[in-house]
Amino acid sequence: MARKSLVAANWKMHKTISEAVKFVEELQKLVESLDDREVLIVPPFTALHAVGNALNRGDFFLGAQNCFWEEKGAYTGEISPVMLKDVGCSYVLVGHSERRNIFGETDEMISKKVKALLRAGLSPVLCVGEKLEEREAGQTFQVVERQLKEGLLDIDVQSLAKIVIAYEPVWAIGTGKTASPAQAQEVHTFIRSTIEKISGDKSVAEGLRILYGGSVKPDNVDELMKEPDIDGLLVGGASLEVSSFKRIIEYR
Ligand code: PEP
Repeated sequence: MARKSLVAANWKMHKTISEAVKFVEELQKLVESLDDREVLIVPPFTALHAVGNALNRGDFFLGAQNCFWEEKGAYTGEISPVMLKDVGCSYVLVGHSERRNIFGETDEMISKKVKALLRAGLSPVLCVGEKLEEREAGQTFQVVERQLKEGLLDIDVQSLAKIVIAYEPVWAIGTGKTASPAQAQEVHTFIRSTIEKISGDKSVAEGLRILYGGSVKPDNVDELMKEPDIDGLLVGGASLEVSSFKRIIEYR
């Protein structure tokens, strides 16, 4: 089954509102219309509304970097999935390694976020990936399997079809070290087979989009995207400049 790829810009804690709007206005003019791929812009919360208003193409979508799992209430500083839906998001990142490692997010918290997003009608982009010491200890599959099973606990098959997975080896994020296409492909195949096991449904696993993230750049994107199970990219550093992100969107 042909999967439409998804190329996502995770801006992390970068860009003011005016910088963010200028970026998307410029990018949308420069990128030719896309039929086999979609673009996801994931700005900081403060720029969501303005970027959402500036997006004017059917192949560009808005996403958020994080959320809380409750709908509303006394949770100072948090943002709910309902609010993200209201501001125009279609996707929300969950369990990014910076959330796990700097802010102490556990698989249990991530699972609550995934469920809350699905309840609000949003697509979670569940990020998984091993640390360097885990890879060196031969635990990559074990770690990724645990993150998938616990992050997707009790999710029904229909909802699983709305989820996107991002494989982001922690040792490759922001380090300049990319997983080789073969290393990434190996884990992507493993993720697809794990989703087949979890869902008991081959077509859900076949339709699942699995993004690769970790130091994706204009000069390594083409090789990565040739792999059959890499269905898109989650890009940090190289998504902050229009010219490099445009080249990544236009992988060939
Ligand atoms: C990320 O933050 O998801 C990421 C992959 O960052 P970078 O591209 O900078 O490694």
